[in-house]
Amino acid sequence: MKTFALTRASDPAQAIAAASKATTAQQGADIRFIAGGTTLIDLMKLNVEQPNTLIDIYRLPLDKIEALPDGGLTIGAGVRNSDLAHHPLVRKNYHVLSEAILSGASVQLRNMATTAGNLLQRTRCMYFRTTDMPCNKREPGSGCAAINGANRSLAILGTSDQCIATNPSDMCVAMAALEAVIHVKGPKVERAIPIGDFHLLPGNTPHRETVLEPGDLITHVTLPPPAPGNRSLYLKLRDRASYEFALASTAVVITSANGTITRARIALGGVGTKPWRSTEAEAELTNQPATESVFRKAAEAALHDAKPQSQNGFKVELAKRCLVHALKLATKIA
Ligand SMILES: Cc1cc2nc3c(=O)[nH]c(=O)nc-3n(C[C@H](O)[C@H](O)[C@H](O)COP(=O)(O)OP(=O)(O)OC[C@H]3O[C@@H](n4cnc5c(N)ncnc54)[C@H](O)[C@@H]3O)c2cc1C
Ligand code: SF4
Repeated sequence: MKTFALTRASDPAQAIAAASKATTAQQGADIRFIAGGTTLIDLMKLNVEQPNTLIDIYRLPLDKIEALPDGGLTIGAGVRNSDLAHHPLVRKNYHVLSEAILSGASVQLRNMATTAGNLLQRTRCMYFRTTDMPCNKREPGSGCAAINGANRSLAILGTSDQCIATNPSDMCVAMAALEAVIHVKGPKVERAIPIGDFHLLPGNTPHRETVLEPGDLITHVTLPPPAPGNRSLYLKLRDRASYEFALASTAVVITSANGTITRARIALGGVGTKPWRSTEAEAELTNQPATESVFRKAAEAALHDAKPQSQNGFKVELAKRCLVHALKLATKIA
């Protein structure tokens, strides 16, 4: 195993990473960036990931959070999850993001985990993390042990007959509702990728989770200016009150005037194969009165295409109730 530590973003380092023989920037790539290591080292210990070269980017100067001239925010890829959650501008303007991050993992993990690492964390599907079980995500073409196995915690939206794994991130759900943009420096070009286009549905290639190519370095994430007068929050439902992944969660960013919702941004977690923005729910809410019956219609729309598996049918109603309750809290009718 070779390791390199970078102290500044450099094209040669990216060229090294781009030289990976893999077709993905994650699964199977032999050369990998490492930031906090809280995902990658775990998976290496389990032999799920076996890169032969690590490029340590933890000391790159990508740890700044700064206001943008348009009122938005730029967040360095290396900003620790704790620093992001507690930053005054995040707490003031992007409350949902602060709540989502603080609902995840533990203080110690959040002190290590980075923005980019969180965007790229991998599923907690138990078969993905067990090398003697079939898993199309870990080993393409080997099958999916979860479809007829233990799938209680897995996805009901965006699944395929190849993979039903849930995206586990809380932060990404808030970023989906906030319409974050992910900035990437590739070996040749720089790209700005809306978060909705960043994660891929499993389809026939579940081992490919994002649009990143080998050598692509996430440099920062930008958030648009907060919608004037919005209220936002993150609600996470799980088997125990802390240190647990979501069974269902929701991020809502709502603007209302005189009891009518004028703008809604809705995303769901714990139920989708990617952080799940629901434009269907948003359409049901916009220009409607803030009432429980309207919220319920929005929840029905959000889960309309849900395809539960043998053990996770309960998530359909759980996710609906999660969204309805979050909307009540955000509009203060609860
Ligand atoms: C016990 C435990 C409980 C957890 N609970 C939760 C939870 O409840 N909710 C939740 O949301 N998360 C949870 N997590 C996940 C945690 O949030 C992630 O492990 C963490 O965010 C990953 O960040 P990192 O910097 O450590 O990533 P790393 O492990 O360093 O990297 C992860 C991936 O990102 C890539 N990478 C990192 N930086 C870049 C970059 N700048 N450009 C390109 N690629 C990059 C790496 O190559 C790797 O593929 C938990 C983790 C653990 C271990
Ligand atoms: S759901 Fe996806 S990650 Fe889990 S076993 Fe099936 S293919 Fe692997």
